[in-house]
Amino acid sequence: MRQNWIVSLIAIWMIIACNGNVAKIDGKEVENAVLTANDLSKDYSFESMLDSVIEDVNCAVFPIVNKKIVFQDKYASMDTSQILVIPFSPNGKNFKSSAYSNIKSRYILINPGYIKEFAMKNTLNDATSVKPLLELMILHEIGHFILQRTGAFDAINDGDSTQLGEQQSNLEPEFITSEKKVELEADSLAIVMVRKQKVNKYDCLNVEFNIELLVPAMQFQMSGKRMIDNFGASDIGFLHDPNSSHPNMELRITFMNYFLYPTATLKGLIDDYIYNRTVRPVHNQLLDPRIYQGLEKHLPDDSI
Ligand SMILES: [Zn+2]
Repeated sequence: MRQNWIVSLIAIWMIIACNGNVAKIDGKEVENAVLTANDLSKDYSFESMLDSVIEDVNCAVFPIVNKKIVFQDKYASMDTSQILVIPFSPNGKNFKSSAYSNIKSRYILINPGYIKEFAMKNTLNDATSVKPLLELMILHEIGHFILQRTGAFDAINDGDSTQLGEQQSNLEPEFITSEKKVELEADSLAIVMVRKQKVNKYDCLNVEFNIELLVPAMQFQMSGKRMIDNFGASDIGFLHDPNSSHPNMELRITFMNYFLYPTATLKGLIDDYIYNRTVRPVHNQLLDPRIYQGLEKHLPDDSI
């Protein structure tokens, strides 16, 4: 009996020793390689806030997905339970993105400066919302890891009266393509992880409280801002997407709010958004003079 116990101890020691050998911390090298390859700089200015964000998120997420997000000082590329988080700032002026996940190489690039700018200027006007928004973004990125599907650089538009995204035409339907659906799926997984906190009664409810307050407030304010920015416009309900890979932020936040609080009002709002994007443009084609005039026919005797 005692011998068995000693054998078990040796086996455990060997496993730890082997892992110790293999799981060498090489986060600095990996981080430098990723930053250089993408022409990005490391952003050190949000370190203490991100420490707290990562602590909250890990506490909430690790029991569910068995993944831990870490900074470079703890990251060992051989440890497949780890995901490296790299805060960056862009070197190019026009680089507008908030976060990106590389599933295969297990890292998340996050642009805290841009997320802060988004929270302060365009959506919430409130410094206390920056941390919950960072938590939501990281939960979304972990959603990509659960799906095993990399998203495009997660763009959020800058809101300078472009809350509706590209205004091209109100005559063409805008569908939620399969690429955009991946983003909505990652969003919904973020909310599932938040809801799990309540069910599982984990001892770390910061993420749950933060997101449950953030999402409804964001949806309310984005919707209000759209009304003000587009006062008097005829197609105010048409929420265009900012690019070919991402649905617009107001639609995404409204979906997330519905996943958190599935009320009939929010369901109706989403149905309206979808109707305005897909069915209404087709109806508009029937009434648009550019199209109507092309259809107008004349009788041989056109004196009437
Ligand atoms: Zn995404």
